[in-house]
Amino acid sequence: MITADMHNHTLASHGTADVAAMAAQAKAAGLAWFGFSEHSPLPGGFSCALYTGDLAAGFPRYAAEVLKLREKSAQPGADGPRILLGLELDWLPSRLGYMRELVAAWPFDYVLGSLHYLDGMSVGAIANWGPEVPREERFARFAAYFYEMASMVKSGLVDVASHPDFIKLRAVDDFHAWLGAAESRAPLEAAVSALSESGTAMEVSAAGLRLDFAEPYPAPAIMRLAAGAGVDICFGSDAHRPADVGRPFDRLASYARSFGYAESVIFINRQKRRLAF
Ligand SMILES: [Zn+2]
Ligand SMILES: [Zn+2]
Repeated sequence: MITADMHNHTLASHGTADVAAMAAQAKAAGLAWFGFSEHSPLPGGFSCALYTGDLAAGFPRYAAEVLKLREKSAQPGADGPRILLGLELDWLPSRLGYMRELVAAWPFDYVLGSLHYLDGMSVGAIANWGPEVPREERFARFAAYFYEMASMVKSGLVDVASHPDFIKLRAVDDFHAWLGAAESRAPLEAAVSALSESGTAMEVSAAGLRLDFAEPYPAPAIMRLAAGAGVDICFGSDAHRPADVGRPFDRLASYARSFGYAESVIFINRQKRRLAF
């Protein structure tokens, strides 16, 4: 059984519930570990149309609330899950200094690294994947994305590569075609060997299961490569509302088991801990 959900959001960015409501749901779901991993406030020049609140302004209050809960959850006799403070960091290689300062500014237990942007382009924006974008261009983006992931992992700034093939979001059929093509080998191996050499974990995310394509992040071909290279995995729901907390972790567990995984990792004060599932 998976007892840790390391990827969750709140009202501070574009979730639907506050810290207390998400923590209450984690308790109701029977989790032993619950990580808040709110998005990182964006530097000047970047914006995310999805965010409903002013993330930069609200972040200190949000983080203070999670830290208070974290302390309470670690007291002897406390019931409910142990709370962790994570961060879903937008990997923006042109803003290395900004990212370093942000990661150092709070006592994070762990940092998830996400490639929501590729060369400044929003990966998840449907407008960037219209029919005018030819397949060669899509394949080139997929390759660049995984080389960029290797750079992110080598930076030492992140503990986990989150939703590792997020780039399939708007182009899932082309992405699967690319996975089947020989040219995907080198970029995927660059990312996977960076993960295994650095001990950085790879997230296995339920977010993809909630979409039309109903496939976890990452796809089976990447799970196979990662398992073969001994890459650790970390589970996350990427819940933006209470109903998605810790779900559907039975499916995520059997998915990971089918590639030979029997344990996942979490991070406490940036130290890795292994959990059987
Ligand atoms: Zn994300
Ligand atoms: Zn997220």
